[in-house]
Amino acid sequence: MKFFCLAGPFIWSLACASLSPSPSTTGSLISTPSGTVQITKNEQCACRRLTQSFGRSVILPGQKNYTQQTVDDYWDIRAVLSPACVFVPDTADAVASALQIFSACNAQFAVRGGGHMNYPGSNNIDGGILVALSGLDSYQVHNDTIDVGPGLTWYDVYKALAPYGRAAIGGRMKTIGVPGLTLIGGFHYFNNKYGYAMDNVVSYDVVLGNGTQVVASNVSHPDLFWALKGGANNYGIVTKFTLNTFDIPQITTSIQVFNETYFPSFFEAMCHSASVDERDPIAAGMIATVAYNTTTKVASASLLGVQEGVSNPPSQFANFTKIPATQRINNVTTLSQWAETLDSPKQMFRVMFSHKTMKPDPDMLYSIYKAWKAAVDDISDVEGLYPTFVLNEITPSSLRVAQTNGVGNVWGLEPEPLMIWQFSTGWANAQDDLRVEAWARQLTEHLHSINQKKGLASEFIYMGDAGEWQDPYAGFPYENVQRMRDIRAAYDPKGIFSTLSWGGFKLGL
Ligand SMILES: Cc1cc2nc3c(=O)[nH]c(=O)nc-3n(C[C@H](O)[C@H](O)[C@H](O)COP(=O)(O)OP(=O)(O)OC[C@H]3O[C@@H](n4cnc5c(N)ncnc54)[C@H](O)[C@@H]3O)c2cc1C
Repeated sequence: MKFFCLAGPFIWSLACASLSPSPSTTGSLISTPSGTVQITKNEQCACRRLTQSFGRSVILPGQKNYTQQTVDDYWDIRAVLSPACVFVPDTADAVASALQIFSACNAQFAVRGGGHMNYPGSNNIDGGILVALSGLDSYQVHNDTIDVGPGLTWYDVYKALAPYGRAAIGGRMKTIGVPGLTLIGGFHYFNNKYGYAMDNVVSYDVVLGNGTQVVASNVSHPDLFWALKGGANNYGIVTKFTLNTFDIPQITTSIQVFNETYFPSFFEAMCHSASVDERDPIAAGMIATVAYNTTTKVASASLLGVQEGVSNPPSQFANFTKIPATQRINNVTTLSQWAETLDSPKQMFRVMFSHKTMKPDPDMLYSIYKAWKAAVDDISDVEGLYPTFVLNEITPSSLRVAQTNGVGNVWGLEPEPLMIWQFSTGWANAQDDLRVEAWARQLTEHLHSINQKKGLASEFIYMGDAGEWQDPYAGFPYENVQRMRDIRAAYDPKGIFSTLSWGGFKLGL
């Protein structure tokens, strides 16, 4: 029997534990900067074996970088948890070894890319092993593709492509991670022409639950290739994405801000934009948000519009440009320069996302907005309340890409216009967690039920904007979910990504 010890203020007893081969459920307590949690011998076993094999790539509580990895790298304060150890692999082989160790020790683990999924357990774990992918941060630019490691942000990708005048279809804000967004769909400004981020993955390098490494592409494991296009973290850990790139050296941007008088026109312009159905569209899209200040009672709507090319003002936002605005700034720039200005700082808020989808209907959207504003006033005593109402369009042309590219994706949506209406609610204190969740959930379900009665509702749920209580798979075609489950059974027969890694949006039984 071997022993080894590690020093440090938060080091738990496992560091000096024996290397007993048979894991059991009793364990010990660990203290971390975020709390005290129980770890079982299974996770002790995995951390010990990882430490033996990878030494400095394993970070224990109390060691330098533990707080960086378990707190600072998360967007939402709620996602901060206390893993037993953090593993930071720098090769796909290391990821493969880790998965074999997790399986052998029967140890629970979570995986983090850019750390933007916002609810506890989706990308972090109490008492288990956090696999932080920040070390897999290399990229390689080819003629019309780029190979990207899962440790990169979308800003890293846009910056890497800028010297070549090319762009990829990824996230709209600076710090969002490549892997999470790409595995769940990927709303970008240019979906209307190029489809979603998932539609632009040419191949995935994946480590399966048993440690086997496969490449999923149109010609290699095509079933897995399809399932990864929206199938999230159900199949393996992706260690490399090969993405299409496009010749987009410059973009035109349009920042427009409207006061409440013009909200009906704003919603009308949004619905019109979602409904445009051109066979050869100019790539253009936006971030559309209404912010409401419960103290001043002032609401304002903003459009951050982006269009490929140098047409200034950008032609695709003409319907917004007709509306009197309190601010309007157009600019010609590059995607990387624009993304640089759109930071979404980490650890600012606790945040609840909740949303539903509907056919574009300006009057109903305006009613939803008014109901939301009144409901926000009802919880205005919540400390640090930061309510926003967000709209995301789904254009027919964006969906036609998957329909015609010979691969498809798990969403299986028909090319019809849709509008996602989302409440993104920030607040300050943990004691309000349940209240804000109940509030968001009840309001969202109530408004959706009105849309259902009016024949306006779609059951599509986008994982990136979903609250933890929502089920995105329920909105996919039933046959797609069955196919996803069959593929999961083939590639992960032991259920490593269902039972040992259980956080995030899992496919379920
Ligand atoms: C401020 C903000 C802005 C956003 N803007 C957009 C936007 O413009 N467009 C859009 O589509 N979405 C957007 N989102 C949603 C975003 O796409 C998701 O939060 C997404 O999960 C972020 O990816 P990530 O790598 O940062 O996430 P993470 O939290 O690191 O990962 C998300 C999930 O994927 C899993 N995962 C991560 N890496 C891997 C891997 N390599 N292999 C297997 N599983 C993995 C994790 O375990 C986790 O369950 C936004 C979210 C926020 C908070």
